[in-house]
Amino acid sequence: MILAVLMAGLVGCYFLFVKNDDTPVPEMPVTEENSTVEPSTQEPSTAEVSTFLAVAESTTFEVLSEDNITPLPTPETIIIDEEKFNLTLVNNRYRMPEDYAVQKACAVDGYDVELDYRVAPYYQAMYDAAKADGIYLTPYSGYRRYSTQQTNYQNKTAYYLQQGYTETEALALAARIIMPPGSSEHNLGLAMDICGTDYDFDQTDAFAWLKEHAAEYGFILRYTEEKQSVTQVVYEPWHWRFVGVEYAKEINESGLCLEEWLSMKNLMPTVQADG
Ligand SMILES: [Zn+2]
Repeated sequence: MILAVLMAGLVGCYFLFVKNDDTPVPEMPVTEENSTVEPSTQEPSTAEVSTFLAVAESTTFEVLSEDNITPLPTPETIIIDEEKFNLTLVNNRYRMPEDYAVQKACAVDGYDVELDYRVAPYYQAMYDAAKADGIYLTPYSGYRRYSTQQTNYQNKTAYYLQQGYTETEALALAARIIMPPGSSEHNLGLAMDICGTDYDFDQTDAFAWLKEHAAEYGFILRYTEEKQSVTQVVYEPWHWRFVGVEYAKEINESGLCLEEWLSMKNLMPTVQADG
């Protein structure tokens, strides 16, 4: 019992330390050896969490082809419709207003990771349900400040500049992995990066559980492997986006990504007038 409390405290401290996701993650190659799949039936340790993230970050470099780099479009600032906050679209084309204030709440008791206060209860419910099935949907990164996103994006852009890409190319490549500030669903508190103990998150029991049940709690897999050409974002099996219970199932059944589904429904964002 005492050990369990101590472990929870340690994990809590870890998340307190890294919650803003601004700690540089070391590069680490994925090898056959370290991609062994094991069931996510235990809360990951601090070391396992950092290894998972290091591998997750480096894996993404290879997913999208780098020989056809489309320059980033000039983003437009959207008007957020509070009535349909759960369907807010942000991406490389649509950006949230920089001064938009997200009201946050703790996503899971005991973790210092936040989501929009309207989303957090759904994550907690999903977390509890998974836990009852012996699965840990450990929250790693939820709400992220605009300024933190800016720093992360700049760091990623700098990485590609160092690799010899032009500025236009570096900005576009970076955006496939870390969204520019205001373009990330984390800035709105609508998405959670879920951390498993395993390197290939889509091979885990946690991922299988999410595929089966996340929609019941209003969450969808946002950046799928098949829709990378539409989203312009690499496949991110750990990134789960809240759209609401009433829409998650419908979106899944449509086989469309959020951009396509919103467009079909005539629900694309309203943009602010110039000037
Ligand atoms: Zn994410």
